[in-house]
Amino acid sequence: MIPYSCQSITQEDIDAVNEVLKSPFLTQGDAVPTFEQALCEYTGAHHAVAVNSGTSALHIACLALGLQADDYLWTSPISFVASANCGLFCGAKIDFVDINSDSWNIDVQLLEEKLEMAATQGRLPKILVVVHFAGLPADMDKIHQLSLKYQFRIIEDACHALGATYQGRAVGNCAYSDITVFSFHPVKSITTGEGGAAITNDLQLAQYMKMLASHGITRNNELMTHEPDGGWYYQQKALGYNYRLSDIHAALGVSQLKRLDDFINKRKKIAESYDNVLSGTLFQKPLRLQDRQSSFHLYVVLIPKTMNRRRVFDRLRQAGIGVNVHYVPIHLQPYFASQGFDEGDFPLAESYYARAISLPCYPLLTEEKQHYVTECLEKIINEEDCN
Ligand SMILES: *Cc1c(COP(=O)(O)O)cnc(C)c1O
Repeated sequence: MIPYSCQSITQEDIDAVNEVLKSPFLTQGDAVPTFEQALCEYTGAHHAVAVNSGTSALHIACLALGLQADDYLWTSPISFVASANCGLFCGAKIDFVDINSDSWNIDVQLLEEKLEMAATQGRLPKILVVVHFAGLPADMDKIHQLSLKYQFRIIEDACHALGATYQGRAVGNCAYSDITVFSFHPVKSITTGEGGAAITNDLQLAQYMKMLASHGITRNNELMTHEPDGGWYYQQKALGYNYRLSDIHAALGVSQLKRLDDFINKRKKIAESYDNVLSGTLFQKPLRLQDRQSSFHLYVVLIPKTMNRRRVFDRLRQAGIGVNVHYVPIHLQPYFASQGFDEGDFPLAESYYARAISLPCYPLLTEEKQHYVTECLEKIINEEDCN
């Protein structure tokens, strides 16, 4: 089976991990700060906090921005469930803004209308989690302007978008957000096995997130309530977690990050080939915009409304192509239904879901394999026997 995504590991990656294994520190050594520094250099942001998953990063980001019980967190219904769960971890309430049917990101017009309505009802969100779906940056400029008017904080869920650019700058620079979150799961742009990071330009947010990722403990004198009792001393100042990334994982991240641009270029090439096969057909391709460049974490195609998605999906799977669907709209998950959401609540997300298929897109996908995928796709396009 050709997977929809997978990691690319070289001997260099293996050597980097081996080096840590032979060193005195498997955790809390040099590799994590080195990885954090490299993430700052790549994104242009001032501070990075590496943690053990993208989900952990979302959680500490919400906590650092003060999300509490009865606050609202809004996000996109077309995302991984963690984009919403992070709000529930804090006891907050979740709501969604429907997507734009071209970009598949949060629709700014709908966001503005929903904010206007929420303002009159006193139900404005404290945090908006903006997802750069499939790696295409959302309309950050406009969303940032709305955040100034309606006083909400912005977390960019850039778990798909490490290596993407917006207005010519790397996603993660936090020009239009408080915090940007990445994931380093093996299907993402780079991997640490499991892992994630929260990036910010705000020193206080960074220090607080660092503390929350390690039990709420600090060894930084400046953050203590009084002079340390001695060299052994630390203070717990908040209720934190153990969300630390190990040095074994971080070393893999440092090594992988060196090849990030190469990975993205390969993904772009694959996307261009799919674009060529699909142009002029009734299949809807990912949107391309002048002022931003997708990292192509996913290559999603929407099949024509006249075709049966399940049949197209099954046929590709039978042909050994590990297509996938990203995502079942979050509000339709049984757990969220129990929070009061229902079918029909976000119709654009639902009609997207009815037609979406993710095609294989990852750096190690050979031309030969991609050719096989496009051949199968062309058969489906031409025979139209999946109606
Ligand atoms: C992968 C992903 C996450 C969660 O990241 P993990 O590292 O798997 O915890 C969150 N949001 C989105 C959009 C993702 O794709």
